[in-house]
Amino acid sequence: MPGHIEHLYVHIPFCPAKCDYCAFVTHIGSLKLVEPYLAALCREAELRHRQRSGGPFKTLYFGGGTPSMLAPEQLWSLIQHVEAVMGLSSSCEITVECHPATVSLPKLLGCRNAGVNRLSFGAESLDDGELAALGRTHRSADVARAVDQARAAGFTDIALDLMYGIPQQTLESWRNTLERVIQMEVTHLSLYPLSIEPKTVFAKRKWRFGLDVPEDESVVAMYELACGVLRDAGYEHYEVANWAKPGHRCLHNLAYWRNAEFHGLGTGAHAYLHPYRTENDPHTGSYIKRVLAGMDPVTVSEQVDVHTRAEETMMLGLRLLRDGPDLGAVERDLGRHPLEQLKDEIGPLIDAGLISLTADRLVLRETAVPVANEVWERLLLSRLPARGSTFATPVM
Ligand code: SF4
Repeated sequence: MPGHIEHLYVHIPFCPAKCDYCAFVTHIGSLKLVEPYLAALCREAELRHRQRSGGPFKTLYFGGGTPSMLAPEQLWSLIQHVEAVMGLSSSCEITVECHPATVSLPKLLGCRNAGVNRLSFGAESLDDGELAALGRTHRSADVARAVDQARAAGFTDIALDLMYGIPQQTLESWRNTLERVIQMEVTHLSLYPLSIEPKTVFAKRKWRFGLDVPEDESVVAMYELACGVLRDAGYEHYEVANWAKPGHRCLHNLAYWRNAEFHGLGTGAHAYLHPYRTENDPHTGSYIKRVLAGMDPVTVSEQVDVHTRAEETMMLGLRLLRDGPDLGAVERDLGRHPLEQLKDEIGPLIDAGLISLTADRLVLRETAVPVANEVWERLLLSRLPARGSTFATPVM
């Protein structure tokens, strides 16, 4: 029996420029596709609602790309349409990802008036040399200005993304970035180690000339430094790569880690409506054409059996350093308690200080995050005879 869908992701694929490390679906350059794209998003919302009604949504997340390239009026129209077609709960968390160089006080006031109540800035670093090395078009002063403007516009939920292990970065420059971010008193931080993805500028540069990035040991030291500095500053490390001030966890992303179902709209958007995980057409032009012609833009669809769902619930939940996976949900899918299934594996991992088990709660320890892939590998439920496809999830 399908459950109630409470989460909606909307992909906005437009960016001011392509960052050198970026492997996301983005459309650079002319904005002439924006209006037809917004029309297509509205049509897709109607299509999805006919296929399987969701809402009222508890979370709505505009990700990208750079959603802050939209005018507040465009965001407002989109939110209004989603609310009219699919429904939004009165306390819906509405997040917009922002590029620091694309916001202004009037724009953020407009976003607030459109119903947005959470902003997530792609700061990446507060060192101008590192930002240039990443191919970012903003500088550290833009981040400070954007956060001030967000606060002046009335936002109290302000998140920053940062990267570490990036070219030119040292432990000292990383500490400096963290300390400056703490002074900004943002409520949420996502810290990602640089990952060099295929077909990016970084991948090509690495292949041709090599790329001068910190050694693995230095990257681990940066992670450990962040854990200590952020703990002292009152942030809760609640997910492998995410820290929040009390009461400021990202509810939308928590839904992913809890393996909840969600709708997804837009170019390349993923959705999970059990038993299907789907992915939309990754090309903005053809996505628009398909949707406006009344066609379904899904180009990839994978069926998830209950055994695979159990494994996904386990692996995604192990990213949650305070809560761990919902073992009851895993048991319902497996027909057997996962701790019983994994009893031979858990003891050695506890002894090695990599996981802890308390009152039916199994969690990865903060110090084990750098070797999380190995821990997750040991805890795969795939030792049971019947098994669906493997689910891979990135570390840190
Ligand atoms: S702003 Fe974000 S989505 Fe756009 S190119 Fe840069 S990293 Fe990619």
